[in-house]
Amino acid sequence: MTADLELTAREAAKSLRNWRKSNTEADTRGVAHVGEGVLRCALCGTTLVVAQEDKGWYAASFSYSCADPGCGQGALPVAEVDRELEEFTRRRLKEPAVVAAWRATRLAELDEQIADARPILPWCWDQRRRRQLSRRLAPSEWLFTPYTCTSGSRHYLYFFGTELTDLIVERARTVAEPQRGRSVGELVQAEREWTYLWLDIHRLKRRQVRRMLGRRALQEIDDDWEQRQTRLWDLLKETDWQYSGPARQPLEDRAMDQEWSQSPGVMARQRRSLLAYALGDNQLVLSATVDAGSRVRVVPAVS
Ligand SMILES: [Zn+2]
Repeated sequence: MTADLELTAREAAKSLRNWRKSNTEADTRGVAHVGEGVLRCALCGTTLVVAQEDKGWYAASFSYSCADPGCGQGALPVAEVDRELEEFTRRRLKEPAVVAAWRATRLAELDEQIADARPILPWCWDQRRRRQLSRRLAPSEWLFTPYTCTSGSRHYLYFFGTELTDLIVERARTVAEPQRGRSVGELVQAEREWTYLWLDIHRLKRRQVRRMLGRRALQEIDDDWEQRQTRLWDLLKETDWQYSGPARQPLEDRAMDQEWSQSPGVMARQRRSLLAYALGDNQLVLSATVDAGSRVRVVPAVS
């Protein structure tokens, strides 16, 4: 093994799979509604659950209701409550102390994800190593002709490279203090070039390309692919990046793009994590009666 390799090809393939799995799970895993597990019943203090009320064959609506069937708290429509949760989140995420807490936590998460990817990177740096890694990532390629131009290990390496790039770009944009290093714009550009090619060829079947355009056309596609990915992997050897624009704010998160009440269930997990920053050490209590225009009340957490 060469000095710069911490992992064997087998270990690198395994960590690459795990890294991608934990990355995508963090985004999507099992939260259907933003208030789930966060809101408590004003009457009995129990955590509220989301229940579906069937209103005929064409319409069903979702409500937050108390998990205790003996409690007198009625069901409250998710859309109305989510509107209040969004207002609360927007208001709090403009406060400097909340923004600072959000920034520190998000940076720590990004640093951890980026650090976990680093030992895999040397396996992507040159074509010979990429081939060794590929054999572990998608062994079936050695038995069958890959179906499309981006099947098998190409698929893994492309998503690993672009997902890691997105994290590094997000990190550079999130840091509040001025940074030294290369402009993150170069990284964005290299990622974009690779993505354009991915979009062009990911549906092309290799066998068809060979039959219709010839062996040389297929070779050209493969060379282009190698060239564009090499460009990105080369840049990813750098560790210091800087972004010259204003630092990212929590309200720029994609989870805030659409109105929560209009799109319940969309990015619920990410919305809930923003709500958690907004909430800090407090708890949210939901009551059936409207008090000063809202049903949601913020109370200090009882430990
Ligand atoms: Zn209750």
